Amino acid sequence: MAGNRFIAIEFETRCHWLFFSGPLHALTSKIMTTSGVRVRIAPSPTGEPHVGTAYIALFNYLFAKKHGGEFILRIEDTDATRSTAEFEQKVLDALKWCGLEWSEGPDIGGPYGPYRQSERKETYRPFVDKMVNEGNAFRCFCTPERLEQMREAQRAAGKPPGYDGLCLHLKAEEVEARVAAGEPHVVRMKIPTEGACEFHDGVYGDVSIPWESVDMQVLLKADGMPTYHMANVVDDHLMKITHVARGEEWLASVPKHILIYKYLGLEPPKFMHLSLMRNHDKSKLSKRKNPTSISYYSALGYLPEALMNFLGLFFIQIAEGEELLTMEELAEKFDPENLSKAGAIFDVQKLDWLNGRWLREKLTSEEFLDRILTWASENGRLTEGLKLAQSRISKLGELPQLAGFMLASDVGLTPASFAGLKTSPEETLEIVSTVQADLEKILEWNVETIEAELRAISDRLGKKLRVVTPPLFVAVSGNQRSLPLFDSMALLGRSVVRQRLKVATQVLTSMVGAK
Ligand code: GLU
Repeated sequence: MAGNRFIAIEFETRCHWLFFSGPLHALTSKIMTTSGVRVRIAPSPTGEPHVGTAYIALFNYLFAKKHGGEFILRIEDTDATRSTAEFEQKVLDALKWCGLEWSEGPDIGGPYGPYRQSERKETYRPFVDKMVNEGNAFRCFCTPERLEQMREAQRAAGKPPGYDGLCLHLKAEEVEARVAAGEPHVVRMKIPTEGACEFHDGVYGDVSIPWESVDMQVLLKADGMPTYHMANVVDDHLMKITHVARGEEWLASVPKHILIYKYLGLEPPKFMHLSLMRNHDKSKLSKRKNPTSISYYSALGYLPEALMNFLGLFFIQIAEGEELLTMEELAEKFDPENLSKAGAIFDVQKLDWLNGRWLREKLTSEEFLDRILTWASENGRLTEGLKLAQSRISKLGELPQLAGFMLASDVGLTPASFAGLKTSPEETLEIVSTVQADLEKILEWNVETIEAELRAISDRLGKKLRVVTPPLFVAVSGNQRSLPLFDSMALLGRSVVRQRLKVATQVLTSMVGAK
């Protein structure tokens, strides 16, 4: 949060108004904003940081700016099997790259930390205990096998899925005995059997969701970790979040959240559920269709200002010709009262147009050059890529041809690119499409893990590694003669490699289909 702003600093009992310039988090926990507005972005580090996260984060950031409030980052990593430190770092890097700086977060701390849920396990327990002790939540001993049978029976009977309440009726003595005997169990919340949960949403207006459609949500897992719902509510309360702005996919969870707040005797924050970003055909933005990771757009040379400008236009009303806006201008025009439910279309052509305008109209030639150099050096793409070329050239002028793919936004794959391979188009397609699907399984993206996965894929396909790699050289670099494959893939990054393999699969599919 750069720039000048008024803040109130509390010294014990007195309040002083100061004019402050500089990063907010440099000050201590005694700081209060003038408005008391506190919003957060709460990503789960389970994958490449998504442009949808930047979109929600930008909304919250602008909301905080508009109200002189605080924008906080909280990492929601209660899903220990899917959350990784690498993805968490990437989320932080991506949001910083976007220019969305937070004043409290796992990297900088703050008065309500820790800001990583996996470090707050013990914080949640008293809240769960209160709900159990007051009869608003219950221990459930159903085994995964029993739950699966129950779901199967519900499917067969055409009933909606949901817990059937078997453990709801256990006697207190039996529950005690089973807990004392160390029997694994979860804690579920009780849900009213009649009526509807009515609430106001800042985007959707008045909403009514019948309780019969709400499941008896697990709050505490067998390993003692809270679920998303429990941790999210407790943390929003403890972190004094005043407004929860998130994607519309969470609207159906609001009844559970409101009920948890009620059971705990707490005041819920105000809710705003933003329409999801969609593809042109209105389908959900998904990496299978279009690149969705922020790192893909930064790798291709979009300016963060242009991406924020593009996303920010979904939150403001402007006339034609006024599209080019800085973050400050977006914050000025930002109008959370006037949001549409119409859905934000991720129109890459519009992003290209805005990015081009930013490059041409907003940067001096020195800034332009500076941006190019910063961009080319990201993740060591240029420097490390060029080093890899040392043993493969006879004069420096061969470098653009050999290493240019490290920076190219598109390597121009055509059927001719694959023509010189020893493998047939069918076999090449099999290799490229298998690798495309399996790359998602790699948790940490580096030379060793890529090599290990490609070796495993070769074994599975019953092929030698040296048969599997040439099609990948072409898919990734557009050329049969290129830099070492595993290193190149590691430097390019998962999102760029994913997109190149996808394009290669399309080209190869058309070749096989045309036969
Ligand atoms: N961890 C959730 C997510 O990644 C946050 C949802 C919320 O903001 O409550 O979408």
